[in-house]
Amino acid sequence: VKRVYNFGKGKNDGDASMKSLLGGKGANLAEMCGIGLAVPPGFTITTETCRAFHNNDRTLPEGCWEDTLAALKVVEEEMGQKFGDAANPLLLSVRSGAAVSMPGMMDTVLNLGLSDNVVEGLAAKAGGRFAYDAYRRFLDMFGNVVMGVPHELFEEQLEAMKKEKGVEFDTDLSAEDMKEVAHRYKQVYVDQGTQFPDDPYDQLRASIYAVFDSWESDRAKVYRQVAKLTGLGGTAVNVQTMAFGNMGDTSATGVLFTRNPANGDKHLYGEYLMNAQGEDVVAGIRTPLHIDDMKAEMPQMYDELVRNCDLLERHYKEMQDIEFTIQEGKLFMLQCRTGKRTGMSAVKIAVAMVDEGLITPEEAVLKVDANHLDQLLHPQFEDEAAYKDRVVATGLPASPGASVGQVVFTADDAETMKASGHDVILVRKETSPEDVKGMHSSEGVVTQLGGMTSHAAVVARGWGKTCITGCGDLQIDEGNGSCRFGNTVVNEHDWISINGTTGEVIVGKCPLKQPEMVGDLGRFMHWVDQFRTMGVYTNADTPEDAAMARENGAEGIGLCRTEHMFFATEERIKTVRKMIVAQSKEDRVKALDELLPFQRSDFEGLFTAMDGLPVTIRLLDPPLHEFLPDGDMDEVVEMLARETGGKPADIAETIERLEELNPMLGFRGCRLAITYPEIAEMQARAILEAAVNVSKKGVKVQPDIMVPLIGTSAELKNQESLVRRMAEKVFEEKGTRVDYRVGTMIEIPRAALLADQVAETAEFFSFGTNDLTQMTFGYSRDDIGKFLQVYLDKGILQVDPFQVLDEEGVGQLIKMATEKGRATRPNLKVGLCGEQGGDPASVKFVYAVGLDYVSCSPFRVPIARLAAAQASV
Ligand code: PEP
Ligand code: MG
Repeated sequence: VKRVYNFGKGKNDGDASMKSLLGGKGANLAEMCGIGLAVPPGFTITTETCRAFHNNDRTLPEGCWEDTLAALKVVEEEMGQKFGDAANPLLLSVRSGAAVSMPGMMDTVLNLGLSDNVVEGLAAKAGGRFAYDAYRRFLDMFGNVVMGVPHELFEEQLEAMKKEKGVEFDTDLSAEDMKEVAHRYKQVYVDQGTQFPDDPYDQLRASIYAVFDSWESDRAKVYRQVAKLTGLGGTAVNVQTMAFGNMGDTSATGVLFTRNPANGDKHLYGEYLMNAQGEDVVAGIRTPLHIDDMKAEMPQMYDELVRNCDLLERHYKEMQDIEFTIQEGKLFMLQCRTGKRTGMSAVKIAVAMVDEGLITPEEAVLKVDANHLDQLLHPQFEDEAAYKDRVVATGLPASPGASVGQVVFTADDAETMKASGHDVILVRKETSPEDVKGMHSSEGVVTQLGGMTSHAAVVARGWGKTCITGCGDLQIDEGNGSCRFGNTVVNEHDWISINGTTGEVIVGKCPLKQPEMVGDLGRFMHWVDQFRTMGVYTNADTPEDAAMARENGAEGIGLCRTEHMFFATEERIKTVRKMIVAQSKEDRVKALDELLPFQRSDFEGLFTAMDGLPVTIRLLDPPLHEFLPDGDMDEVVEMLARETGGKPADIAETIERLEELNPMLGFRGCRLAITYPEIAEMQARAILEAAVNVSKKGVKVQPDIMVPLIGTSAELKNQESLVRRMAEKVFEEKGTRVDYRVGTMIEIPRAALLADQVAETAEFFSFGTNDLTQMTFGYSRDDIGKFLQVYLDKGILQVDPFQVLDEEGVGQLIKMATEKGRATRPNLKVGLCGEQGGDPASVKFVYAVGLDYVSCSPFRVPIARLAAAQASV
């Protein structure tokens, strides 16, 4: 097997299609060489080698080292330099790079190949100051990244040296001083019980090992877990000739996005530093300049950079994230990759690229991550002018949107608070890969340090979290559990609001509002619907939710949970309780008669809001005791006796009867209405009377009446004939008919297995994948939290099956039931209304199975629309 791939002008073995083998970085370096851009030559050791290394007890596979040396020879020839040769030294950088960009793995080692001997040669060629500075940087990075020697120990030595010499900046130290610093750095290794390897080949080998090891580091593993990255083999190693951005005033180094990653504007967006090495930009030692300043400072270089960016965008048809270095007036491209962006930016860029003729609308639809759309649908502040007097600090607008939460200072606190149901804003000096889980748990992040490309900014944008970085007015006093924004003290758990679009930090809670689908988003969603073939409905129980979902593009209601309607007012709940504790059918019917007008008017509202679209109404589902108040049994009984006029002893007995050991498998769903037919009769009457009433006013109604939780076709037959009897009664009374259908939820495995029988009665199926998942796995929906994290940590589950549909198991039932159902009734309408209906991967799966629609919460409707469109193009 080929394990080492050269990239460069002469020998270029790879290209962008080889990302899984060469990693994203390696594949793109080869691609850039292929299209003729100036890239310092080097080579990539494959991701498969990383896997082999770990499978083989941390040893390189046979022949790999020899292949590495051969690839190095090619680089030496192209450069006319020799690795480890003091007379004409070749220096290298070593970096990790998996198929998917992934923080948490090994950072960069620069200037590899220097030793006490080689540095003298470099000094003779490039000057002592430059050479010893490069050497001590290498000793620091190599020590820290490869040998695990803490960076601070080196930093201490440098600070001590500056003190001794009475200077403020590194740049004020002389060549001799730097030589001495390098000498002391080597002693740091010894003090830490190790040794700096003088042989450059030992350095190279150790660095390759370190990259492979970093794949299995805790940080990398946590990141893969949080980002749900599975199925990756390992990381590649990229070894590349050094380009020096620190060779004086004609040299520079920088990072940029070809368009604004926060809002999508077509304008280079990034930072650079004159006379500096790559790490200086990220480390924040000096404040980088905006890339626009380069136009005046280095006009020629700027023009060339713009040309390269243009070329890369046209080549990849994607916004690019670029690293470059200018060495003595020559521009080198060090990295390019698809730029991470916010949802807002993603939509804007996709639309702009269509207008620029770069891509087709169809391609545009594929360029926006459906989950990313979520961000655009997230709240903004209702009134930005209203809070201006409460703005206590302003930082960089690193990731847009608005969020409100309670202040926490550590990632752990963020996780704990979130777990107990609180919204939090994580406030930190800066963030590191260890903080990613806590960031995930936060509504937003504020950091004191860092720029638009700092860790916090990049991670937050990727997840669509609001983020403000570089908030210079922020001082954190973690020990005291407080911080200051300017002069304002904010304590832990105090509420703040942050505006990631403007960078403003506001004390207190600011009201949020829902965004609208206009402008670019409107155009984009229009394309989405052009390509989409599967329907997207919504789960809604109120006319308000239904109207909102319709704004978001819902094409019907896929699930109205009628029990939710009873919770709307205290009066309704009381009436429901009367029904539950009724001691006779007569009493129960009386209570139901009181409920009827409420239900009817609710349904009228729903039908009206969804004029012309199907409305799927499910008959009562949950266990009855859910409607009873919590608390001390005696008090509850007394209260119910008062409310209903019943006898306390009878009520106590009724409640006792309702108590269940396993309510999810208990007296719920159609079991209720089969036992007490009067409940379903009332609901059927309310639905059909409402349908007739509004249709008389000109509203187009399409009621789909849905029976929950059936396991046998006899259950469905029982309820179906009840509904049809009631329908005839209503139509006769009203003197008008409306069309309606009777169908069922498929949420018990038995119903899926016998779907052919069920379809003899059912005119439609809706997969209730919450219950279907619960009963297929045998995991209680309400208790999975007790062991889910363990299962994820141990890799027993990859994802929460209640969020992402289990294609293998539950998916098989869906597929089979759909086929069986349609074998009986070819025009059977089939949908899905569990939580997974708003998850893009699940939407794509059920599209492939051939479902007619998915139904999800109003908020996720646009996401499901995009996922459905992507499935069909
Ligand atoms: C389901 O079980 O998937 C469903 C939609 O019903 P509910 O969540 O109300 O049980
Ligand atoms: Mg259910």
